Amino acid sequence: MKAIRRFTVRTVLPERLTGLEELSTNLRRSWHQPTRQLFRSIDARLWDATGNDPIALLGAVDPARLDELAADDSFVATVDGLVAELHDYLEKPRWYQSLPDAPASIAYFSPEFGIAAALPQYSGGLGILAGDHLKAASDLGVPIIGVGLFYRAGYFRQAISREGWQLESYPVLDPDGLPLTVLRHPDGTAAHVVLALPDGKALSARIWQVRVGRIPLLLLDTDIPENEESLRSVTDRLYGGGGEHRLLQELLLGVGGVRAIKAFVELTGAPAPEVFHTNEGHAGFLGLERISDLIGDGLSFDAALQVVRAGTVFTTHTPVPAGIDRFEVDLVTRYVSTDLLPGVDPADVLALGTEDYEGGDATKFNMAVMGLRLAQRANGVSKLHGEVSRGMFGPLWPGFDADDVPITSVTNGVHAPTWTDPMLTALAAEKFDGSDPTSCDWMSPVVSDKDLWSVKRRMREQLVSDARRRVSLAWQEQNPGVGDPSWFSELLDPDVLTIGFARRVPTYKRLTLMLHDPERLRALLLHPERPVQLVIAGKSHPADDEGKRLIQRLVEFASDPEVRRRIVFLPNYDIGMAKILYPGTDVWLNNPLRPLEACGTSGMKAALNGSLNLSILDGWWAEYYDEENGWAIPSADSAGDGAERDKLEADSLYDLIEHQIAPRFYDRGTDGVPTRWVASIRHTLATLSPELSAERMVTQYVERLYVPAAGAERRITADGYRPARDLAAWKKRVTDAWPKVHVAHVESGGVDSVPQVGDELHLRATVELDGLSPDDVLVEVVYGRAHESDRLDGVTHLELAPAEGDARPPVFAGTVPLARAGSFGYTVRVVPRNALIASPAELGLIAVAE
Ligand SMILES: *Cc1c(COP(=O)(O)O)cnc(C)c1O
Repeated sequence: MKAIRRFTVRTVLPERLTGLEELSTNLRRSWHQPTRQLFRSIDARLWDATGNDPIALLGAVDPARLDELAADDSFVATVDGLVAELHDYLEKPRWYQSLPDAPASIAYFSPEFGIAAALPQYSGGLGILAGDHLKAASDLGVPIIGVGLFYRAGYFRQAISREGWQLESYPVLDPDGLPLTVLRHPDGTAAHVVLALPDGKALSARIWQVRVGRIPLLLLDTDIPENEESLRSVTDRLYGGGGEHRLLQELLLGVGGVRAIKAFVELTGAPAPEVFHTNEGHAGFLGLERISDLIGDGLSFDAALQVVRAGTVFTTHTPVPAGIDRFEVDLVTRYVSTDLLPGVDPADVLALGTEDYEGGDATKFNMAVMGLRLAQRANGVSKLHGEVSRGMFGPLWPGFDADDVPITSVTNGVHAPTWTDPMLTALAAEKFDGSDPTSCDWMSPVVSDKDLWSVKRRMREQLVSDARRRVSLAWQEQNPGVGDPSWFSELLDPDVLTIGFARRVPTYKRLTLMLHDPERLRALLLHPERPVQLVIAGKSHPADDEGKRLIQRLVEFASDPEVRRRIVFLPNYDIGMAKILYPGTDVWLNNPLRPLEACGTSGMKAALNGSLNLSILDGWWAEYYDEENGWAIPSADSAGDGAERDKLEADSLYDLIEHQIAPRFYDRGTDGVPTRWVASIRHTLATLSPELSAERMVTQYVERLYVPAAGAERRITADGYRPARDLAAWKKRVTDAWPKVHVAHVESGGVDSVPQVGDELHLRATVELDGLSPDDVLVEVVYGRAHESDRLDGVTHLELAPAEGDARPPVFAGTVPLARAGSFGYTVRVVPRNALIASPAELGLIAVAE
């Protein structure tokens, strides 16, 4: 029989154990080892059975056991000690509190958050990254307020049918059983946000609060009686449904999210955000809600836009155009031609998101385009991805070189306390005086090769038993009552070189590249002296049959009796599996089509656990590969076609495993330890761990983006918004004049007919400004190495200053030193200049000498 309703009754804890309540509801317990140990000590079997969920554990544990613990003074003292420690963590100043002029708070919007296995509000890398961002912000004391949606079904659970086909199910989450509390008014009623919809309808949402260490996370939920039936399902599932459903989710996230923050600030007294960070374009509507508020304060749309831009940071996460949200312009028009955004003219909204540039489709409203136009600061998520994004979004800044496109990069990182295996953390603490594993000197002989290798073996062994358990559970589900096949007990071997590969399964990630030459793979797996084993996992998007076929091919290959002990596909990749999988591997494989992997973070999590990466030079690996921390699969970018490229790259993959990786792994000393391999592990832990940590990432966001954005926001809002009004008026004036602005004439002198190194080139440029003042523009000579096509490389910009006298049109002059022999070229360019703009390309206006 099926229940029609379900809820969770929380345990009443014995008086002396009430501290467990606070310890279980703050999600810091998902990464704080001593707290996890405490819950495990209550009932180890239940701890495993609940997937390490303290709330479920407290709900299920025998009350007699709780009474017993309440009588145990040493247990009670541990609880009290951990509560006190948590309070210290929540209240004492941390890194951020020492910064001058840092923003009072920062709002961080994301459509998904992967924080703990018990709260599956993520589908993959984007969500895990957002979770890690909040966790590291908490550790650093960065006052972020997270904003997202509460999906009733979370992301799907994956099973694999006998035919190898992916099956999805959507376990429904019960908020009562989760560490969530409703945001309420002082009179006890729930706070709501309400969005006006077409045809006089309205969408309401309540606001769940989650505590992630010091960080409050607000999740909007439409499954409430105030909504008509069809609207209750707006937040039913992550990325469910198509155009309109998704648009409703994104309007709720952006517009509703800002309203939720206002309610939160008002009801809790938390400081209002000075900076708004949107993690990918999905939350882009947040800028429109803020514009609407500012219009309410008496600003024009254009002036309000300047304020919003100053304080907004936009992070783009995908170089795959299909990964960007686009809506039909007509659909968006219908939703913004309502009372949704008071004071905002729909035409102004459409102008922000329409692809009205070369190569764009003017019938599409593009969330990334709007994200870039609403944010003065934008970034990609690795150096290479920053570069690719500058190229991809270049058409929004016509006339500018890709290098000038105002998109920088902050390379992703991962939250080390979450992702480092407790065994490795314990080794670091034991040998390095309590240090955490990202900050100790792993090259030091304080840790012997043998110690390190034995931890690696234990982590591998833990993966092997976890894999057997999962395979057995999957079998039980499909064959109830039938015992496990006997070969399950021989699945994987804790002493065999273990390669891991797990990720979502979009085509560009090439799940099945390893099957390119099945005979060759088989030979690697079955090598008599140097065998290899593969542990694979991944989910395909429910609507992506092609991805499902890739999984099916792998599952088929892995079910062959000859190889099945050496290769396994584990169903239902999630945070819980990932935490065991990464540490258990010796090598982490990643073979995307370069440059489509924006960053990739699973390899980072593996590296934190001493795995060596084997990857295409894409995303983070292009930046950090140093020949000692793993291997680079050469990418055959210039191959004739996709098939040839796959072949070349697969061959390199097999060669590397056969000739370099396996020999090094199996090269053992008399003590059985692979000294050379362990040296690479040490090097990886010592050099990569600090770089890959989310603390490094969040620190960079603070220093490079949040602090400058808050500064810009403060400057532009000073004096009753006067600078914002001035800037809007100035932009209009400059934009109107620009068609006539041009470099009329450039004179050069100072070099002979045979220029030599050491000579100086004197330049005078006459610039027609059509009524603009010389102060409104920046005139620069741009020089560098010239190619035959006249293209300039390795360019330097040098400002030309207004020359003496009052020539009309004005003359700008300067001197370029000829410091380098070889071909030299230069040009002169004019761009708008204003202390309140963040990049010369900001207005998209440029005039170059012809
Ligand atoms: C880290 C992680 C991802 C993202 O990995 P990528 O390498 O960025 O694809 C996806 N799912 C889970 C469960 C993860 O832990």
